[in-house]
Amino acid sequence: MAGAYLYRLMKVDGIDSVVLFDEKKTNRCGHKPCAWGVAPVTEYRRLVGAVAEPRDYELKHSDHIIIDGVRMKADMLTIDKARLISDLVGGDVVRHDRPVGEDFDRIIDATGVARAFLEPTRGPEVIADCIQYRISNESDLGMWFKTSGLGYEWCFPLGNNEYHLGFGNLAARVKDYRPVETGVPPVSLSKIRCKCNSRVRLTSPFHSQPFVSRGKVVGIGESIGTVGPLGADGNLYAMQSAEMLLDHWDDLEGYSEAILKRFDWMRKERKVLDKLVGGQVPSIADARTFVAHGKRIGIGMGPVEALRLFKKAMEGRRIPPEEKKA
Ligand SMILES: Cc1cc2nc3c(=O)[nH]c(=O)nc-3n(C[C@H](O)[C@H](O)[C@H](O)COP(=O)(O)OP(=O)(O)OC[C@H]3O[C@@H](n4cnc5c(N)ncnc54)[C@H](O)[C@@H]3O)c2cc1C
Repeated sequence: MAGAYLYRLMKVDGIDSVVLFDEKKTNRCGHKPCAWGVAPVTEYRRLVGAVAEPRDYELKHSDHIIIDGVRMKADMLTIDKARLISDLVGGDVVRHDRPVGEDFDRIIDATGVARAFLEPTRGPEVIADCIQYRISNESDLGMWFKTSGLGYEWCFPLGNNEYHLGFGNLAARVKDYRPVETGVPPVSLSKIRCKCNSRVRLTSPFHSQPFVSRGKVVGIGESIGTVGPLGADGNLYAMQSAEMLLDHWDDLEGYSEAILKRFDWMRKERKVLDKLVGGQVPSIADARTFVAHGKRIGIGMGPVEALRLFKKAMEGRRIPPEEKKA
């Protein structure tokens, strides 16, 4: 997301001397991670509107979401992210080898959780395992989240009776998750079109420093931790960081400062996540941190609901990971 978006922004600015690299994807659809939710819609349209027609990629808009059975106001959209990325790249050559021994002015590390070119993060890292299924189902499954210990399940409608059903968790054995067993409502396994395993970095930018290595390797997106630690949302922040790099192209120190400032809320969320993982009881202030995240992406959640979700996470935390893995 971050790399393709930056590439297109640069093209629009008339910068043509960019070489694209990507890993060969081995999963069925050829795209990874299949994370197609964006919020708020206005920010999605602003970002994509700078380089393409955002409505061309919009699949399903939802003005509400069900979280643990409670209906909350929302402003969420699913987009055809695979097609968007493909259009941003625009059929240009993408190399699948490694840029070894070549002299580039700058190397952009937009490799997400892999962080393949920057030096390791200052850490400590927090990375969650995820699994996601693409299914079809005749009845409307809606858009929902269901907390499950140190993680959650989700259902995102993609239109044409198709859905992404997924599960991400810091403690449970994610690979064992089957939507047919735990989905709401239950789903027939015969309706599964594909599935893939992936990981998401919840470390936060603060703990993902440095953002610049060896003077010319610069990170954008999830490689530098621009993902909400409590929500695991990162699509729009990946694009925002790409936009910010272009704004600070000749001032990488300013870029790092701007990333830390804009995404300081992720540092605060990381603190709350550390508490939950460590088994400490979250405070009202922690609940407000989560509520602020909801507000930022258009979810109308109050502190009482936030505390209830934390309580569920704490209950899940009490199950030792080893026991879950057994
Ligand atoms: C299952 C799942 C569901 C998610 N759902 C959502 C959601 O609904 N909404 C949301 O906002 N966020 C979601 N996220 C988070 C979101 O997907 C990421 O934060 C976002 O994609 C980050 O964008 P990025 O461009 O930084 O990295 P990525 O999208 O991960 O892209 C990294 C790219 O780098 C390439 N790469 C890796 N290693 C190398 C290498 N050595 N050389 C060259 N290329 C390499 C990869 O092939 C990939 O193309 C989800 C994450 C997961 C795992």
